[in-house]
Amino acid sequence: MKIVVKVGTSTLAHATGRLNIRRVEALVKVLSDLKNQGHELILVSSGAIGMGVGKLNLPGRPADMPTKQAAAAVGQCELMYTYDKLFGAYNHTVAQLLLTAEDVSFPQRRQNFVNAMERLLQLNALPIVNENDAVATDEVGVSTTIGENDTLSAIVAQCVGADLLVLLSDIDGLYTADPRRDDHAALIPEVREITPELKGLAGAAGSALGTGGMATKLRAAELAMACGCDMVITNGQRPELLYDIAAGGPVGTRFVGRGKNQ
Ligand code: GLU
Repeated sequence: MKIVVKVGTSTLAHATGRLNIRRVEALVKVLSDLKNQGHELILVSSGAIGMGVGKLNLPGRPADMPTKQAAAAVGQCELMYTYDKLFGAYNHTVAQLLLTAEDVSFPQRRQNFVNAMERLLQLNALPIVNENDAVATDEVGVSTTIGENDTLSAIVAQCVGADLLVLLSDIDGLYTADPRRDDHAALIPEVREITPELKGLAGAAGSALGTGGMATKLRAAELAMACGCDMVITNGQRPELLYDIAAGGPVGTRFVGRGKNQ
């Protein structure tokens, strides 16, 4: 299978912005093993800004755009250095692709991206994608950002014709209510259609360092499902769940891609 895994800042970093070493090591180990099993893997990783915040000792996620850009530029290096080192230990070669909205909106540029991705996969490399936060800004009157990596990962899944998109989040899946506030909240194991009621369930919550929430995850699900790709939301605290997810097991919430039966 061709699998896109999206990992958010809340999974990769502690609240301090510093790397959650144990978590990242566990994730890299499972991804390397899935690749050894014969799956094609693409990682969409956040964490550039969050790790830049840690490395530059900033007091929190920057409010102004230039500091955000600077944090992303610093943090992206740290992120790739870490992935290169950890995947390298399992003999996997990583590749970095940084995108802006324009790279995937114009057909020719999108094709360029697709060509690079296909070649990298043929060469058995592991592409790691993020938004190019050091230059993609909404400041100069034109929006050049995708804005968050839930949507970016769905776009990547579309571009490469992925079979499965997994969003590793700080929550176990989609619930009938916010499980942090409501004891009766129940996990929804499978979704076949994104209804207005479902959208109503998705609050706009996010953590201090990340930018996503359930609403962006449902948007990502719509994009993925439309091109026949399954999408699973699961908790990034247990990367080994990826084995069951790849095997089609009932983990988190699975959004079934259109045209799929089981
Ligand atoms: N691209 C941002 C980063 O690497 C994160 C976007 C997101 O959290 O969705 O920090």
